[in-house]
Amino acid sequence: MKGPRNCDPEMVFELAEGTLSQDRKREAQKHLSACPECRKLYEHEVDLNAYLKCLEISDDRSRSVCRGVAMALPTRPMRARVLWGVLALALMLAALLALSLSGTNPVTSATSVVDVLWSLVSGFADLAVTVFVMAGPILLVALLLGAIADVIIAAAVFSAARRNSREA
Ligand SMILES: [Zn+2]
Repeated sequence: MKGPRNCDPEMVFELAEGTLSQDRKREAQKHLSACPECRKLYEHEVDLNAYLKCLEISDDRSRSVCRGVAMALPTRPMRARVLWGVLALALMLAALLALSLSGTNPVTSATSVVDVLWSLVSGFADLAVTVFVMAGPILLVALLLGAIADVIIAAAVFSAARRNSREA
């Protein structure tokens, strides 16, 4: 055993792609069995390769895996969009309610109906801006988390599909 200095990431990548010769492959697998770091890199590479192959949809097998991934993925982005839309609406209503409660003094001190209407319109516009500024990043983070979860689910389905095909 030559120790961690023997690590060769390029060999790990080639092993994951299956482009190594038999001798080099045996050598790489021997190193992987002794080196947890390279093993982790290898597993990550295999998952990534499977994911990329799914995107290409090159043959029937990967197409069926693709279908498996599609079945396993919940329609979260759409659901999240609706959920956050409802939440943004609720925030807006709560903010409007807060305005009508706290805005009692300015409204009664306004001298004309036009002033009252204008203060309501500008107040509403300010609130709408505030709510969208608040809800925007939250919505983005929610969609991003959903996308990350989808990738994790896809990777899990791929590794499960690979395990099944290896056992079969
Ligand atoms: Zn190593």
